[in-house]
Amino acid sequence: MIFKPEKYNIPDKRVEPFIDPEEIWGYIESTKNPSVEEVNQIIDKSLNKQRLNLREVAVLINADSPDLVEQIKNGARELKEKVYGNRIVLFAPLYIGNKCMNNCLYCGFRTSNQEAIRRTLSDDEIIKEIEALEDNGQKRLILVYGEHKQYNAEYIAHTVKLAYNVKKGNGEIRRVNINAAPLDTEGFRTVHAAGIGTYQIFQETYHPETYNKYHVSGPKSNFEYRLTSLDRAQEAGIDDVGIGALFGLYDWRYEVLALVRHTNHFEACYNVGPHTISFPRIKDASGLAIDDKYLVNDEDFTKIVAILRLAVPYTGMILTARESAQVRDEVISFGVSQIDGGTKLELGAYSASLNEKQNLNKEQFAINDNRSLNEIIDELISKGFLPSFCTACYRLGRTGEHFMEFSVPGFIKRYCTPNAILTLTEYIVDYAPEETAKKAWKLIEKEIEELKDFRNVDELRKRVEMIKNGKRDLYF
Ligand code: SAM
Ligand code: SF4
Repeated sequence: MIFKPEKYNIPDKRVEPFIDPEEIWGYIESTKNPSVEEVNQIIDKSLNKQRLNLREVAVLINADSPDLVEQIKNGARELKEKVYGNRIVLFAPLYIGNKCMNNCLYCGFRTSNQEAIRRTLSDDEIIKEIEALEDNGQKRLILVYGEHKQYNAEYIAHTVKLAYNVKKGNGEIRRVNINAAPLDTEGFRTVHAAGIGTYQIFQETYHPETYNKYHVSGPKSNFEYRLTSLDRAQEAGIDDVGIGALFGLYDWRYEVLALVRHTNHFEACYNVGPHTISFPRIKDASGLAIDDKYLVNDEDFTKIVAILRLAVPYTGMILTARESAQVRDEVISFGVSQIDGGTKLELGAYSASLNEKQNLNKEQFAINDNRSLNEIIDELISKGFLPSFCTACYRLGRTGEHFMEFSVPGFIKRYCTPNAILTLTEYIVDYAPEETAKKAWKLIEKEIEELKDFRNVDELRKRVEMIKNGKRDLYF
């Protein structure tokens, strides 16, 4: 039966236009020059685990003296430490195909870019790529596709199932997320049934005029169809969705507020915010054709990440290898929950399975962090972070885990840290070079020690030993 809200006189919030540029600019214009007290009160509100409203986020956006910006960053650091602890979840993107019917002026895959050699990995090539990723220790992937008739819901579902079935040695992929074009509700149902984790769709810019300027042809040129795409996903049963804005197309202040507005929309309509927020910055791409007026510098970028952390304290935040190691290191401490490691964007690059001519193909855009997965893990450990490949919540049907981490007392100690320890143990035993392994064991000892009041700590120790003796995939 189809639910018809109007029949019951219930306003259907899903169909209300939820992005109103005038409203967003109104908040920004009316909160100029905030006082130190006001900014501090707002930071405190977030530290007390209360969600900020649009006006309060606008105040933080307008707090631009160096002292206030430092306070915002300190607030984000404190929130991260207080709530989330030191875990960082690792994943890798896998580009499946770069055929594209759209003409997004910032993207190397756009249809008018003659330099791009169009390719879709064959099933065998996908398997080889995944084997190479498993050989590095990856357990979580995001599959990425251009927008093309060939990459329809059935094809996406097919590649997801393919990914879950590749097992090499002790390697396996335990969570497959998707970054692909919007689908209709039926299409979302098809990919949902294939067992996807998160479906990510970035709005790119929430400013309709700018959107029209940069999306000149193809299905993506319809602003509203894209804006409502994750509502269709929800309707199809995918409650794990990821939103994002591509910073550099329009004024960052507007995009930050619009991301929060989009989050409010999900909370109002589905009682759950987005699983993750992404905030990619435009990077150089083959044939890049954009105005540089709104490009975001490092200083503003770090402020954006800190404001988002305080604004939506219980949403996962993803930072990718588009950013340099230096920028990544700084903003990770503001509460980024996931980063990619060992990333390669050229088709077929993980396994180097394509021959030289095919490999002349350009990636979608340039990345700035070329460290291997192990280098990243090694550095995270040296800086006191706990790398994690955990996929437990999603596999146990505990959706909304960021919300639970945030709001259920002891959730992180009971589940997240032990699962991070167990997945890091697997990584050490199966993939880590000796030097990294030594550091990682030390970290694990320290982490277990800190969990000593945790009721299952003996069970945790036992499971670490079981993994050393060959067991895999243990979680709480
Ligand atoms: N084709 C699908 C789409 O457009 O939604 C999914 C894949 S697209 C390759 C993934 C994301 O890459 C886009 O949503 C966009 O935000 C980002 N992207 C495109 N060009 C970029 C560039 N030059 N620098 C950084 N990110 C870029
Ligand atoms: Fe195609 Fe996506 Fe690139 Fe746009 S961003 S050209 S839709 S791959």
